[in-house]
Amino acid sequence: MLDKLNKLTESHGELRPGHGLASGVISLSLAILCFLGVLAFHFPEYLTTPQLRKSYNVDVMRQLLYWSLVVSGGIALFNIAFGRVRWLSLGSFVLIALALGLGGHKVPVNDFPDNTPYIGLDWFILDLLGSTLIFVFVEKLFPLRKEQPVFRPEWQTDFHHFIVNHMVVGFVLLATNLLVHKLFGWAAKDGVQAWVQQLPFMVALLLIVLVADLVQYWTHRAYHEVPLLWRLHAVHHSAKHMDWMAGSRQHIIELIITRTLVLAPIYVLGFAKEVIDAYIVIVGFQAVFNHANVSVRLGPLRYVIVTPNFHHWHHSQDDEAIDKNYAAHFAFIDHLFGTAVQSDRAWPAHYGVQGDYMPEGYWKQLLFPFTWKSKP
Ligand SMILES: [Zn+2]
Repeated sequence: MLDKLNKLTESHGELRPGHGLASGVISLSLAILCFLGVLAFHFPEYLTTPQLRKSYNVDVMRQLLYWSLVVSGGIALFNIAFGRVRWLSLGSFVLIALALGLGGHKVPVNDFPDNTPYIGLDWFILDLLGSTLIFVFVEKLFPLRKEQPVFRPEWQTDFHHFIVNHMVVGFVLLATNLLVHKLFGWAAKDGVQAWVQQLPFMVALLLIVLVADLVQYWTHRAYHEVPLLWRLHAVHHSAKHMDWMAGSRQHIIELIITRTLVLAPIYVLGFAKEVIDAYIVIVGFQAVFNHANVSVRLGPLRYVIVTPNFHHWHHSQDDEAIDKNYAAHFAFIDHLFGTAVQSDRAWPAHYGVQGDYMPEGYWKQLLFPFTWKSKP
C-alpha cells in the first residue's frame, strides 16, 4: 500500500475517472487532515496559532472535524464496498481509526499557556481546506487552461512550499513584528495616526491597499532589478504551471523582507484594526487568486484591478513580459510607471524563468540563492 501511495504522490496528471481515484484521494486527504486536527486538539499550545485561535470558535472546529471524519469514512466505505481503489480507502480507515482512538472530535481542551513556541498546524489545515474548496471550484468553473489537471507537473514542490510557509507562520509573524518595530518605530507620529483613524472605513481601506501596493510595487521591482535580490525572487518565478498553489512557491527570506516592508507604512500610519483585518483578507485572497488557472474578463476595469489575466504575464518567460506587471492589487500602478505588459496576445505562452535554471524540489530551492553561481 505504501508503495502505491508513494507512486501516486510522486506522479502528476489527470486522475483516471471511474476507478474511485479522485474520491479516494479526497477521502485520504481529509483523513490526514482529521488526524492532524486531532493532534492539534491534544497539543494546542504547540500546534495552533494564537492569533488564529482567538478568531475561531472551538465548537465549530469540532463540528468541522466531526463532519470531515464522516465524509472521509463514508467515501472510503463506499469505495471498499464497490471494490474501487481499496488500498487508498484502507489508508483512510487506518487514519480515521487512529484519529478516533485519540479522541476524535471530543478531545477536551484545558487551559494552556499562550507563549509557547508553536507551528501553525491549524493555519495549514484550515487554509488548505478552505483554499482547496474555493479555488479548485473556481478553477473548474472559469478555467483558463481547461486541460490542466489539479495535480499538474511540479505540484509537489509548490505544495511543499505551502506546507512549510504555513507551519512557520509563528516565526514569520514574530520576525516581521520585531523588524517593523525596530526599523520603523521612530516614524510613527500621533497626529498622522489620529487623522488616519478618523477616515471613513472605505476611504481607509482604499488608502491601505494603495499604500501597501505602492510599497509592494517598488520592493517587487527591486527583487527583479537587483541581482542579489533576484536570487531569492527567482524561486517564486520558477513555477512553469500557474494555478492557485503556484503562488505558494516563495523563499522564506523573501516572505519576511516583503512582509516587513509592506507592513511598515501600515504600522506607521496607524490604520484601525478592522481596516487592517479587511486588508489582510484582500491581500490573502489576491496573493492566491492572481496565480490561479482562471480567466477573468473585467473590461476596462482591467486597467484598475489585478487579476490572473494581468499577473500571469508577470510569470511569463515571453520576451515582452520580462520585468513587467509588478502590482499585486492595482494594475494602474504599472501603467503609471510604464511597466505594464503591452502585448497583442491575451495570455502568455510560457511560464517560468528564462533558461529554466531553477532546480526542482523545496530544499534545493531554499538553498538556491546561496549556491547559485550566476545567471546563464
Ligand atoms: Zn516577480
